[in-house]
Amino acid sequence: MLSGPSGSGKSTVISALMRRRGDIRFSVSATTRAPRPGEVDGVNYFFRTHEEFARMIEADAFLEHAEYVGNCYGTPAAPVEESLNAGYHVLLDIEVQGAEQVLQRRPDAVSVFLCPPSMAELERRLRGRGTDAEEKILGRLATARREYGRAKDYAYIVVNDDADTAAAELDAIITAELCRSEKRMKAIMEGDRPI
Ligand code: ADP
Ligand code: 5GP
Repeated sequence: MLSGPSGSGKSTVISALMRRRGDIRFSVSATTRAPRPGEVDGVNYFFRTHEEFARMIEADAFLEHAEYVGNCYGTPAAPVEESLNAGYHVLLDIEVQGAEQVLQRRPDAVSVFLCPPSMAELERRLRGRGTDAEEKILGRLATARREYGRAKDYAYIVVNDDADTAAAELDAIITAELCRSEKRMKAIMEGDRPI
């Protein structure tokens, strides 16, 4: 799970990470927010109406869901299970409340908080992206200050100064997690790794 303030560079770093590793699947979330220019339904998000989103909650279709700056976001549970069963790592780009819900249901999930180098740089990136109205940018900056307070609850913190360096650190975290003795021993006991 990768969390971090809006504009910290999660999408950018995830793209760089996916170019480095072929064993990751990105979990496409559902959201009620409008698509940004260039965003494709089913690729970046499943863009849904509030009514459709509410029906998904009723059907217990989400691993987690949360509200963020006036919109709803949720992780569809079934594709996560399918990808894990197919042997992939699943990458969730989710905000802090959702990450907490996932950790309660899946304590084996690995949590990483992505920080921009500074608040001033975060504001520059949000404005530079040019996708949000002023009111939304102010909402996202106010939310960012609260999110920073949760960074210490994450297993890892990566600073996104240079995007390729941040992606290399994420890559290293995944590799280190795979080398954890409990995970290696499980793999060895299941007979799919040489000792
Ligand atoms: P998030 O997914 O966290 O909201 P984005 O990936 O959309 O953030 O990045 C926000 C803006 O910052 C984009 O315009 C992106 O090109 C830019 N950006 C991301 N990472 C960096 C970086 N390391 N250095 C400079 N600009 C960056
Ligand atoms: P954005 O609108 O900038 O794409 O995303 C806003 C915030 O929602 C980001 O912090 C992002 O990580 C988070 N987010 C995206 N998908 C999900 C999701 O499925 N669940 C939760 N809880 N947050 C999400």
